[in-house]
Amino acid sequence: HPPPQPYAMQHSSNSQSQPLTSRRVAVIGAGAGGLVSARELGREGHSVVVFERSSQIGGTWVYSPEIESDPLGVDPNRTRIHSSLYKSLRTNLPRELMGVRDYPFVPREGEGRDPRRFPSHLEVLKYLEDFANEFGICELVRFGTEVVSAGLVEVGKWRVRFRCESGDVDDEMFDAVVVCVGNYSQPRVAEIPGIDEWPGEQIHSHNYRDPEPFRGKVVILIGFSSSGTDISQELLVVAKEVHIACRSAKTGFLLAESVISKVSFHPMIKSARKDGTVVFEDGCVVSADVILHCTGYKYHFPFLETNGIVTVDDNRVGPLYKHVFPPALAPGLSFVGLPFKVVPLPMFELQSNWVAGVLSKRIALPSKELMLADVKAFYADLEANGKPKHRTHEMSDCMVEYFNWLAATCGCPAYEEWRKGMYDYTHVNKRANLGSYRDDWHDDELIHQAYEEFRKYTT
Ligand code: FAD
Repeated sequence: HPPPQPYAMQHSSNSQSQPLTSRRVAVIGAGAGGLVSARELGREGHSVVVFERSSQIGGTWVYSPEIESDPLGVDPNRTRIHSSLYKSLRTNLPRELMGVRDYPFVPREGEGRDPRRFPSHLEVLKYLEDFANEFGICELVRFGTEVVSAGLVEVGKWRVRFRCESGDVDDEMFDAVVVCVGNYSQPRVAEIPGIDEWPGEQIHSHNYRDPEPFRGKVVILIGFSSSGTDISQELLVVAKEVHIACRSAKTGFLLAESVISKVSFHPMIKSARKDGTVVFEDGCVVSADVILHCTGYKYHFPFLETNGIVTVDDNRVGPLYKHVFPPALAPGLSFVGLPFKVVPLPMFELQSNWVAGVLSKRIALPSKELMLADVKAFYADLEANGKPKHRTHEMSDCMVEYFNWLAATCGCPAYEEWRKGMYDYTHVNKRANLGSYRDDWHDDELIHQAYEEFRKYTT
């Protein structure tokens, strides 16, 4: 795996004679988003400090067997665990799609490596470590340093206050702050009338690690998206019964014959009762031991001080131009990684390339008024299409369009056709073979095209 080459077109939109402006930039978080952002910012000539509160890079991909003191994840004083990974987690995207575009996630030899196409979480962590080593990112990271506040103090100057491992709090000034704190740590739970009196246990998937605690139990699982589909498969092996409550019943997934007798699909929960029963919207009543919320996460930026310019309202972070820049604070403040139902790393690459290019003045942003008008039009469009506010950053139907908009703006290559084909195929295959899609696939031609593409970077 020799050093990959940056995109040939990387800086093509810079007017040739103008030198790039170099800024001092704080990146908050050393997960995949922060690592990729640090690389893009560094390549653009900025001086970068990455603040990371834990002792290692990788964020989500650093598995912890521990769970929080409140398994539901709602008590503000609970002990916190950042990662939401479960022990058995294998990626839900094939590795060809997952990697940074010019540093493909190809199998590597070595102890503990997992060459599978849908590898275990540890392999992703190792890939991120390879990436960080390759591009010298670790030297930029201040480990054990939690950002406790970040705010604008004068035009173009941001104060970042941070707590070190010793407990000491200090601050430093930056020209810009890039927020990469991850969006899968703050549980969002279903509101259930009567739940306070219900005697059973509740847990959010953020604190699910393995199926053993659910052996022999009747489990109600709310939500059947990425985590819900995976966790249900494990639970079905050990639980007595698994009841899945989701908005679109069954959601088109085909389940294996061996487990079908243990699982029931329901609409959402209507109420929970003192006697341990749970009533679904269709009137069905189930006496259950555990409710497992696989209901996703909330955006959470407790350190951000913007005087109300940027808010999180019903899980809409806004106003943000193209999910990245708050018009009134751009380009000094930006967010990398907010959109979900996407292929994350290539998106981080494009978003942070844009941020880096705007900060260096290689790429111009529209005026504040035009950006705000764009955000307004976007919100109106969501409303007209009946998309609720909490799905503002969901990209299921517009990911490729968004990526290509970013790519065109940055002068990067468009999202390749094989990627689109592989992404769509993976979803179809998952629906048809929920229990086996990670080991049984028929998109060999697309894999071939992927590796042809990767040869540009790996030979
Ligand atoms: P994170 O990885 O969460 O990193 C954020 C970092 O910020 C952390 O290291 C944290 O310690 C640090 N931080 C937070 N607050 C502060 C602060 N105040 N000061 C300093 N540091 C701070 N993606 C895929 O591509 N394929 C998959 O198969 C896949 N499966 C997933 C399965 C699960 C269960 C989950 C939860 C996510 C999955 N993802 C998957 C998405 C995954 O989250 C992204 O791939 C990516 O790792 C997100 O990176 P990030 O940098 O945005 O956030």
